[in-house]
Amino acid sequence: MKTVDFYKHNLDTEEINSVVETMHGTFLTTGPKTKLFEDKFSKYLGVDFTIGMTSWTNSAFLVLKAWGIKEGDEVIVPAATFIASANVVEHCGAKPIFIDSELSTGNIDLDKLESLITNNTKVIMPVHLYGHMVDMKRLRKIANKYNIKILEDCAHCIEGSRDGIQPGQLSDAACFSFYATKNITCGEGGAVVTNDSSLVDKLKLLRLHGMDKSAADRYSGTYKHWDMTELGYKSNMNDIQASMLIPQLNKIDDVLKIKEEICNYYEKSFNDANIEYMKVLPNTISARHLFTILAPEGKRDDLLSFLQEKGIGVAVNFRPVHLMQYYKDKYGYNLGAFPIAEQIGDRTITIPMYPKLLKEEISYVVNSVIEGFKKLND
Ligand SMILES: *Cc1c(COP(=O)(O)O)cnc(C)c1O
Repeated sequence: MKTVDFYKHNLDTEEINSVVETMHGTFLTTGPKTKLFEDKFSKYLGVDFTIGMTSWTNSAFLVLKAWGIKEGDEVIVPAATFIASANVVEHCGAKPIFIDSELSTGNIDLDKLESLITNNTKVIMPVHLYGHMVDMKRLRKIANKYNIKILEDCAHCIEGSRDGIQPGQLSDAACFSFYATKNITCGEGGAVVTNDSSLVDKLKLLRLHGMDKSAADRYSGTYKHWDMTELGYKSNMNDIQASMLIPQLNKIDDVLKIKEEICNYYEKSFNDANIEYMKVLPNTISARHLFTILAPEGKRDDLLSFLQEKGIGVAVNFRPVHLMQYYKDKYGYNLGAFPIAEQIGDRTITIPMYPKLLKEEISYVVNSVIEGFKKLND
C-alpha cells in the first residue's frame, strides 16, 4: 500500500557537518555556537536579544517566573492551542483564563479579549496557530490600555509576519520551540526573544542555576570564582543544539518557499472541491507550520480513519485545552464554554506538509481527502 508519512525532518549533510564540527571542538555546552545562533536569530527577527533554551516550555516558564507571575495572577491563554501554553501558567501557581478563537484562522478572537481582563490579569499569551500571526498591532494597543504584558507563543511561527510585523517585535517576550517537528529543529530546544535588556539579565540567571557566570565566562583562560545570586533552573541551550539550528536558520526562507508551493496547491484544490481549511489573511505571511482542514461537523474521526486507511499520516491540532481531563477536573469546564475552539477541536485534521513531500504524494493526499469527503456525504 502507498504510504505518506505525516512528517519528515529536513536535516541533511549541512546540519550533520555542523554538529560534527562542534564535536571536534571543546565546547559542548552553552558557548560560541549558542552565542552565534542567538545573534543570528535576533537579526532574522529584527529584535535586540535572543536567549537560547532547552524548550519552549522552559522558555515561557522562565519568562513568567522572571516577571514574578504567581498565585492569584491571571494569564489569558487560547483554548485552542497545545497544552504547554496553559501548563506553564499552572506551574507558576497562576490561573490560565481561556479565550475563544475565530473560526477563519484559529487564532484568538480579539473582540472577546477586553471582557476577560480583570485587576488580576498580568499577561496575555497569543499563539500564532499553524504559523498564521495574530493581529499584534491591535493586541499591543489593548495590552497598553490595561498595562498587561504580552508573551507570544511563537512555537509555530518564526518566518511569519502580519502588517509587516514579525514575531517578537511588539511583545514583551516571545518564546520559540525547536522541538522535533517544528519549522527549525534540534530535536528539543527553545528560545526567548525580547527587546528588554533587564529581562535578558534575569533569564540568563534563571536558565543556569542562578549562577552569575556561565561556563563560557568561567573557563575563558583562567579560572574565576562565581556566585549564586538567586534560585535558578537548568534550561540553557547547548552548542550541539545551536550547531544543528544555524544551517537551518540560514535557509529558512528558501524552505518556506517550498512549503508555500505545497500549501498553494492544497488551497487551490480544496477551494475547487469546496473543502474548508484554516485561512491565511491577505495582510499576512504565514510561517506555514501546519496545514489543517476542517471536516464536516460530526464526521472528523470518520475522515481521520479513512485517511489512515489510505496510508496517510494525520494529526489533530488541537483538541481544546479546557476540555483536557486535568483542566476539567480543576476548573469545572464543560462543553460549550469556548464554542469556536471546541468546533475546531471537533473538526480539524492536519495533513502532511513538509519540504520533502513529493509531488505524487501531494496529489495523492489531495485526491484522498476529496474522496473521503465524497464518501462522508453519501
Ligand atoms: C510545540 C508547542 C509548544 C511546546 O514546545 P516545546 O519546545 O515542546 O516545549 C508550545 N506551544 C505550541 C503552540 C506548540 O505547538
